Amino acid sequence: MAEQNGRGPIRAPRGTELNTRGWQQEAALRMLMNNLDPEVAEHPDKLVVYGGTGKAARDWRSYDAITRTLATLKGDETLLVQSGRPVGVMTTHEWAPRVLIANSNLVGDWATWPEFRRLEQLGLTMYGQMTAGSWIYIGTQGILQGTYETFSAVAAKRFGGSLAGTITLTAGLGGMGGAQPLAVTMNGGVVICVDCDPRSIDRRIEHRYLDVKADSLDEALRLAYEARDARRPLSIGVEANAAQAVPELLARGAEIDVVTDQTSAHDPLAYLPIGVAFEDMAAEAAKDPEGFTQRARESMARHVEAMVGFQDAGAEVFDYGNSIRGEAKLAGYERAFDFPGFVPAYIRPLFCEGKGPFRWAALSGDPADIARTDRAILDLFPENESLARWIKMAGERVHFQGLPARICWLGYGERDRAGERFNDMVASGELSAPVAIGRDHLDCGSVASPYRETEAMLDGSDAIADWPLLNAMVNVASGASWVSIHHGGGVGIGRSIHAGQVTVADGTALAGEKIRRVLTNDPGMGVIRHVDAGYDRANEVAQEREVRVPMREG
Ligand code: NAD
Repeated sequence: MAEQNGRGPIRAPRGTELNTRGWQQEAALRMLMNNLDPEVAEHPDKLVVYGGTGKAARDWRSYDAITRTLATLKGDETLLVQSGRPVGVMTTHEWAPRVLIANSNLVGDWATWPEFRRLEQLGLTMYGQMTAGSWIYIGTQGILQGTYETFSAVAAKRFGGSLAGTITLTAGLGGMGGAQPLAVTMNGGVVICVDCDPRSIDRRIEHRYLDVKADSLDEALRLAYEARDARRPLSIGVEANAAQAVPELLARGAEIDVVTDQTSAHDPLAYLPIGVAFEDMAAEAAKDPEGFTQRARESMARHVEAMVGFQDAGAEVFDYGNSIRGEAKLAGYERAFDFPGFVPAYIRPLFCEGKGPFRWAALSGDPADIARTDRAILDLFPENESLARWIKMAGERVHFQGLPARICWLGYGERDRAGERFNDMVASGELSAPVAIGRDHLDCGSVASPYRETEAMLDGSDAIADWPLLNAMVNVASGASWVSIHHGGGVGIGRSIHAGQVTVADGTALAGEKIRRVLTNDPGMGVIRHVDAGYDRANEVAQEREVRVPMREG
């Protein structure tokens, strides 16, 4: 086990004994420590939680100063964190957040990776990703649920609500892409997953995210057809270069219903070009990065051309946020953007309802607390079948990393009900300790990211970043326990601005009041953002659920 700055591994305290002056501060302390728990973080020795270099604190001195300050922070004080370094403590009031965080923000013209890296080298900033620097990362459960939700939306749009009897073709079984096989089978479907690295396939089988490995495309197809005809969920891994396998399957007329991709196409040096053996990939990329980039892009063009071919043949095809369309276009393939990104295709209708990745962590450390909250969710929303399927399967198949946690997508008018129920359960002693309730920054009204969450907005407002700033401010005004504004998460420096909040259910009446406001107003931002952009569904939701939008009144 890697050492963390000369000490033993970091692990958040469990149980009901406080190490701070109140549960709001205690939650921030435990969630920061939890982000750096080796069970949770990718490189805990470097303070890196996930997503390339997404960090929880700028350096070990800053980490020590944050934990030391949280230990003595009063209930009417607020700690200010600038890109992972604690820079001040101010007297505020009990409704104010206990921590305010700003990570990785740069002035527009300076918002480039080279300038960011120069400033990082000088020790002036850090990359906070989304939930790394805002202390609410919960491990791979987050990506599994997001992928499940996307395939569930595909099923709702094209296949009557289930993927049973359909075959999906995708590639990339890496850290995040590895969630695809389980997400498809959880939706009842069959999936063929191509990866050029046999270790990625083996790892997914070991972690029970992937069912079987086929020795060839022939065998993969045979297994897929058998399972599809029996309407039996099955995930099949096959070792191949996707730039060859996808065109080959198209040429054979393979019966594929859904096609996507999660190879690491966002970085051409991490995509295997045709003609390079997997074992030689790293050396070839290091020897001639420019030549390798060119070859990778040309291969991506062949890969994307075949995806378009499947679309022409009637399959449902979408980009899964890895920039493969942009790279194929750079290689000169003109029809690269013929298929949509996953947000405009499936997720935006959910955003219009204020839906997004709601999550919570049991500060007790007791998995039984999460089981009880799971039951509360099933009880609160009995009509939502997809949610019920997820909660049941997550209970059976998701292994907790660090503090037990749960994620599910809830919308406007739902999150506040869940939060208040949890707070009541803490008050009554049904839960053994308070719960930290937060979300990803990838949410309905909290991010501006023109290549992902705000791609192809109806009114062209993709790059307008006022919305995440308003989102952060309304969360501060509503009583969140900590609030953050970040730049560059998900898609990199210069390409996104986003905000997060975490609110603690500690069982007090005050927490109940704060939860009601925060968990109404936070998803409310998603509704008003999409009303403003002209989405009919958002207008309907605003009307049905009484969200006030001045431009619709009078
Ligand atoms: P990763 O680097 O862990 O894994 C990538 C996998 O692709 C590896 O297993 C590699 O062997 C495989 N691969 C590379 N070239 C290949 C080729 N030519 N043929 C077959 N396999 C090939 O990356 P990850 O964390 O799994 O993420 C994958 C991509 O998906 C990234 O670009 C990421 O940004 C994107 N992503 C987007 C979202 C989103 O927008 N919501 C979510 C998850 C991942």
